[in-house]
Amino acid sequence: MSKFDCIIVGTGPAGLGAAFELIEKSSSLKVLMLDKENFSTGGLRNDCKMNFTFPIGFPEDNWTENEAESYLEKVTEILNPPIKEKHNLETYQKRAEKLGCKLINIRQSHLGTDGGLELIKELTAKLRSRNVEISLGEEVLDLQAGDKKIITNKREIFYENIIFAPGRKGFGFLQNIMSKIDVPFLDHIVDIGVRIETKESSYPIVRDYYDPKFLFPQGVRTFCTNSGAAHVVKEKYSTRDGQTFYSVNGHAFSDRKKQNGLVNFAMLKTVRLTEPLASGQGFVEMLGLQSMLLGGGQPIMQRVGDFRMGTRSKVESFNNDLYDFEPTLKGCTPGDISLAMPGRILRAIWKSMKELDTIIPGVLHPGTIMYYPEIKLYANKPTFKDGHFKVAENIYMIGDGAGTSRGITGAWASGIRAAEGVTG
Ligand SMILES: Cc1cc2nc3c(=O)[nH]c(=O)nc-3n(C[C@H](O)[C@H](O)[C@H](O)COP(=O)(O)OP(=O)(O)OC[C@H]3O[C@@H](n4cnc5c(N)ncnc54)[C@H](O)[C@@H]3O)c2cc1C
Repeated sequence: MSKFDCIIVGTGPAGLGAAFELIEKSSSLKVLMLDKENFSTGGLRNDCKMNFTFPIGFPEDNWTENEAESYLEKVTEILNPPIKEKHNLETYQKRAEKLGCKLINIRQSHLGTDGGLELIKELTAKLRSRNVEISLGEEVLDLQAGDKKIITNKREIFYENIIFAPGRKGFGFLQNIMSKIDVPFLDHIVDIGVRIETKESSYPIVRDYYDPKFLFPQGVRTFCTNSGAAHVVKEKYSTRDGQTFYSVNGHAFSDRKKQNGLVNFAMLKTVRLTEPLASGQGFVEMLGLQSMLLGGGQPIMQRVGDFRMGTRSKVESFNNDLYDFEPTLKGCTPGDISLAMPGRILRAIWKSMKELDTIIPGVLHPGTIMYYPEIKLYANKPTFKDGHFKVAENIYMIGDGAGTSRGITGAWASGIRAAEGVTG
């Protein structure tokens, strides 16, 4: 029966950050990485724009600015990102300030989905050459903490330490493990919003700043902007009782690929549930299912022109005529977002979109498309026993699924921090 000094569940950036740090600290450690998918490294496969400035990607409950910046130095050493230039920042910032909004200046790099795949190959080859075992298509099903053992779909494996990094899609899996080993956790913060798709000429700031981070007074922010060869995609989620819903998202290929002249980005509102404390996951599952009901099993899309007029979008709204671009997400249902989204969230997002249109005139062109829902489920808040994200003896939980990050660099940094806990 096999035994490892450290098993890492998940080969996303959090798992990779942990693996690199473990072998850096001690090359003789026996490390196994497992992923249920047949390909490795989770969210690095999507767009791969990396943000290297606090607080982007670093939840402030878990990171101080100094901590994040010092870990970011380590992340930079390994990922060696080409940082993108920015232009006219002050002009945009001044316009934003006049409205009480903020544009944050972030160090960014963008590899694109194709560039991300190349990076993954390079990183996993390096790990394998340093004797890290990577087993793909192997799903962890259960943990028997008393025996220091996990059960996968293929075998039983023993560990000395285990790091769980299963990402956002592993949110429910992590909750099951936490319940089983009595780790108290909260899951009361969620991000809900829309993804906007428009022509680059209606949102030209992307030529000056690849992924501009605006904060609006209503607790709304812009998130994950993609341009060049940009596409809206949908991600499939399962509810705890096995029903399916979709969240939209976006990515772009590198500038080596054919450009489509479109931009997409999310407008997200953070919702913090208080008394009576409800599960954030439960809340977004209901919203996800409601939009599936209204969209006939698909996400909903609506043209800004229709939304303004208070009418639903129809198939004819996407006629490639006045509105001269076609949605990049196929299989989405034209409809009425205001039927599906809670009023308070919708009002906050619409107000923020109007502010954005004042800062960058054009984004509210009638042809601009709003897709719903975009949901971020990364706010599990386990009770950690130390600063290394330890939840129980020899057990660590990191990455977006454990709420220690909200992006590639934060996930990688939380991996380093957990590995430091393992190696002491
Ligand atoms: C379309 C899209 C675009 C994105 N674009 C960006 C971007 O440009 N920049 C950015 O910073 N962030 C982006 N993100 C977010 C980013 O991907 C995440 O923040 C990041 O990947 C989180 O890292 P992680 O290691 O915590 O989880 P993940 O990267 O999700 O990795 C978790 C891994 O664990 C595996 N896993 C889950 N459960 C199990 C199990 N039970 N057994 C075995 N394996 C399991 C999964 O298969 C997965 O490979 C994007 C996300 C999406 C979906």
